[in-house]
Amino acid sequence: MTASPIVIAIDGPVAAGKGTLARQLAARYDYAYLDTGSLYRAVGSKVLREGGDPAAAAAGLTESDLAAGDLRSEAVGLAASKVAALPEVRAALLDYQRRFAAHPPGGKRGAVLDGRDIGTVVCPDAAVKLFVTASDEVRARRRHKELMEKGDTASFEQVLADLRRRDEQDRARATAPLKPAEDAHLLDTSDLAIEAAVAAAAEIVAAALKR
Ligand code: C5P
Repeated sequence: MTASPIVIAIDGPVAAGKGTLARQLAARYDYAYLDTGSLYRAVGSKVLREGGDPAAAAAGLTESDLAAGDLRSEAVGLAASKVAALPEVRAALLDYQRRFAAHPPGGKRGAVLDGRDIGTVVCPDAAVKLFVTASDEVRARRRHKELMEKGDTASFEQVLADLRRRDEQDRARATAPLKPAEDAHLLDTSDLAIEAAVAAAAEIVAAALKR
């Protein structure tokens, strides 16, 4: 029997740096990576485009929904946060995420998942849990820069307001709210450049996996 895969769970608010950290850790350990936010974004995008029942959209999610061109936009982020509050939507996406963690694609020995509820709900037995944060202003600056690079004209103030609204929505919902698992390691990246944040995360993971 092969050993069960090692799971690294990374949660945190909007633009805290979860994706970058998750991708780098996955590369370092040669684990599979799942950006669970893209699932909720695909549902949000589909509902924005076609209307209809979000739970049905979640249950019938296709590869082409996941490849929709607008997934990273602010509008889709807010729509994702709205559908993510519906327990039926979360339930429809749960199996896929758990299967990914239990059977990482490509026969990898482990998986890194990032999102809002990976350590609390999706993979409560993860080998390592990180909860990544940064101040609102730092996160909004990062997100604003990313949007400007894509040609988006949203102002910094607008990005900051959207980010706060989305975090508030994600924290306040009754099902799987955004919060650190009790056994999560907190990592504040406000004053860390990307390389330093990756190094800090890698140190936490290495220490946890050694135990
Ligand atoms: O991570 P990202 O910003 O792409 O996520 C978009 C939205 O999807 C979040 O604001 C949140 O409402 C929802 N989400 C979630 N649970 C996850 C991942 C994302 O509720 N595990």
